[in-house]
Amino acid sequence: MNCYQCQETMGGKGCRREGVCGKKADVAALQDLLVWTAGGLGALTTQLRKEKKEVPQAANRIFREALYVTMTNTNFDPAAIKDRISEVQSCCRELFPQIEKQELLPEASSWNGEADVYAEKAREAEPLPVEEEDIRSFRAFLTCSVKGIASMLVLAADLSEEDPDADIFIQRALAQTLDDSLREGNLLAVVMESGRYCVRAMDLLNRARVNAFGTPERTEIHVHAGSHPGILVTGSNMQDLFLLLEQTKDAGIDIYTHGELLCAGAYPKLKAYPHFAGHYGGSWQTQKEDFDRFHGPVLATSDGIFLPRSSYRNRLYTTGCTGLPGCMHIPSGGTGKDFSVLIDQAKTCPAPEAPGKTVTYVTGFGHAELFRQTERIAEALREGSISKIAVVAGDDGRVKKRAYYSDLIKALPEDVLVLTAGSVQFRLPEKDGELSGMPRLAGAGSLEDLYSVIQFALRLREVMGVDSLNQLPVFYSVSWHGQKAVS
Ligand code: SF4
Repeated sequence: MNCYQCQETMGGKGCRREGVCGKKADVAALQDLLVWTAGGLGALTTQLRKEKKEVPQAANRIFREALYVTMTNTNFDPAAIKDRISEVQSCCRELFPQIEKQELLPEASSWNGEADVYAEKAREAEPLPVEEEDIRSFRAFLTCSVKGIASMLVLAADLSEEDPDADIFIQRALAQTLDDSLREGNLLAVVMESGRYCVRAMDLLNRARVNAFGTPERTEIHVHAGSHPGILVTGSNMQDLFLLLEQTKDAGIDIYTHGELLCAGAYPKLKAYPHFAGHYGGSWQTQKEDFDRFHGPVLATSDGIFLPRSSYRNRLYTTGCTGLPGCMHIPSGGTGKDFSVLIDQAKTCPAPEAPGKTVTYVTGFGHAELFRQTERIAEALREGSISKIAVVAGDDGRVKKRAYYSDLIKALPEDVLVLTAGSVQFRLPEKDGELSGMPRLAGAGSLEDLYSVIQFALRLREVMGVDSLNQLPVFYSVSWHGQKAVS
């Protein structure tokens, strides 16, 4: 085992015996093998396109989901990961015979081992230290970045929005991590290209959410517990939340968000459901205490899930790319997903007890809302009632040093406007007064909504008539934990 894909990696170097996240060596090996075979699939589809042949749509889905499965705190279930490897292999088997120049493909494009040799093969697929450290670093960075982009493409695809060029890019980019002929210069170019595709993926996901659920609007979200039994939805997948809200209409059950899904409460079509009760708990790292206290079923829809305590394992459900051994998985069916098992269980559960903290956050400051305020903010910056804008965005995490973000906000002068996106928001105090008609701490949404903050900065540059973003009185403090934040 040699996993170093997230901020919690052991000693800042790599988890070798077992993950700090709880990932066991056998699961790490299967994930390495899945990434390796996905690289083989990427090489196949890239070569097919070079030979002007059609790549089936299913290959794009299989590729992006395979990568999402391997992201930190997403899937700990060996059986589910084996199924994904076999799905990738089967796709490769279908495509390989169509390639004319098969000699150009890596071994991963045609490796067809059965499940009983996965463990042995995985030892070769492990990202061993390549001697040249720049090459090793570019490959590692690219793999992280491609995973982050893939995760956003999966979330957008669930909302029926796709970007075929982004699929083509991530397949080519991962294949290039298997190509020993590529030197530093080639890999640096692909890394830079991954930045552009990341912004495209953020844009795509933003459009997908707005098209499906309306433009986010300024909303106060209360962290609280109601008196009815509830279901808690954690992760980033708003389509799952929507399907569950639909299926629980008039069921006498409340639906709550957890973690980064807090921002879902700002979308008009979602918040219109009377039984969408609000938010429960804090960021992803407080989930064990939050899920214990919640008492009802919990639906994990994406990355950010821990191996569960036994106290709530029987009411924790996974769906999509997530997976946990011993927890029930809700599959996608032809007409969507059937959450009736959670709903039936919720009806037998007590209502949640009071959460650890009852606070109020202000969110919904996506770029539409920020664009409405741009003239006013520019004027306040000119006249000095706002001195600076601090963008504090990214992931939260468990290490004590992350108190830095809380300390930073406390130390800032009161005339600094703070824009935040992602789970680091839970490090900030709750709503904190107003500055020129804006809440002083304004949430743009989830990590991917950093896109909206970037769009706002571009608009502010125009309005303030400066040439470069660096000339704006805006500073950025971006925190990362996993692969989405890396990209
Ligand atoms: Fe370690 Fe992070 Fe990998 Fe888990 S995902 S094994 S914590 S580096």
